[in-house]
Amino acid sequence: MTPHVQRGIAQEMAPDVFRLELPTPFNVGPVNVYLVKGEKLTLIDVGPLTEEAWQALTNGLSSIGMSIEQIEQIVLTHHHVDHCGLLERVRQISGAKTLAHPLAAPYIELDEEFMDFHDRFFTDLYKQSGVPQEKMYIIQRFHQLMKTFSETSRIDVHLKHEQTVPHLSQWQVMYTPGHSQSHLSLYRASDRVMIGGDHIIKRISSNAFIEPPRDRSSVRPLTLVQYRTALQMCADMDIEQVLSGHGEPVLDHRELILARLRKNWERTDTLRRLLGDGEKTAYELTALLFPTLYEKELPLTISETLGHIDLLTILHQVDVREQEGVLYYSV
Ligand SMILES: [Zn+2]
Ligand SMILES: [Zn+2]
Repeated sequence: MTPHVQRGIAQEMAPDVFRLELPTPFNVGPVNVYLVKGEKLTLIDVGPLTEEAWQALTNGLSSIGMSIEQIEQIVLTHHHVDHCGLLERVRQISGAKTLAHPLAAPYIELDEEFMDFHDRFFTDLYKQSGVPQEKMYIIQRFHQLMKTFSETSRIDVHLKHEQTVPHLSQWQVMYTPGHSQSHLSLYRASDRVMIGGDHIIKRISSNAFIEPPRDRSSVRPLTLVQYRTALQMCADMDIEQVLSGHGEPVLDHRELILARLRKNWERTDTLRRLLGDGEKTAYELTALLFPTLYEKELPLTISETLGHIDLLTILHQVDVREQEGVLYYSV
């Protein structure tokens, strides 16, 4: 049994890996960041931009005799604000370099042009999905979230699948997209430890968030298909423990992955059954699949619905008809 980590106290996960739990203002609860003592002192993720998270980060480091000033590099598992909001503050104080997947860049830089493209992408997608006009304001919330809980920063080094992490020579990069297009995990073969970000979490099933493609000329990534593939990749690996971005380590990754894949497939079946009652838009399906959640958590729930529609589309098990720009699905 791993004792529950105390806030502000770093917990040793391996002789050179420490977990620091930082509070977040989000439903997901606290976020874990990891300090790895490699050739360079490396922080994996930094937490959201709040005073509470900052206090917990500095206290956690000092509990093992370390300080922000000593951090030499930062690796980001992905671009969500609960993981990267404090990036610029840590960089300013420490002079650390940032290593991340290239697709994290426009989010980390808060690139205005990309944000406009992001808005237009979701406006079109939500219209197509039958989202009522009065719910469209939700698209703006994303920017508010980004600007409140992170600040403009930058990535210095781009990381790719299967490369060794610079100055962390025991650790290999694994590209694990689905939850986010920029999602990376790190793996160390010698003790079979994976730092898994939000790819695999013990107590919550990660959402495969719909994201825009990298540019206008590309098509939307099929995030649930990606996510299932990246989960299967990890199921094939020999892993002793996954150190997740939230909660306790995962010690039985294969069982957990199989359970997640099975649950996921059950939802695809439910969606197919719902379509058996007559054609529906993605928004109508979302309301039926997540009756208590869809109004509050539209981006999350509609991502889930569209993901299952994508799966059924690949399997040629769904028909689609367009009327006045709205897509109607049937089986
Ligand atoms: Zn995330
Ligand atoms: Zn997270």
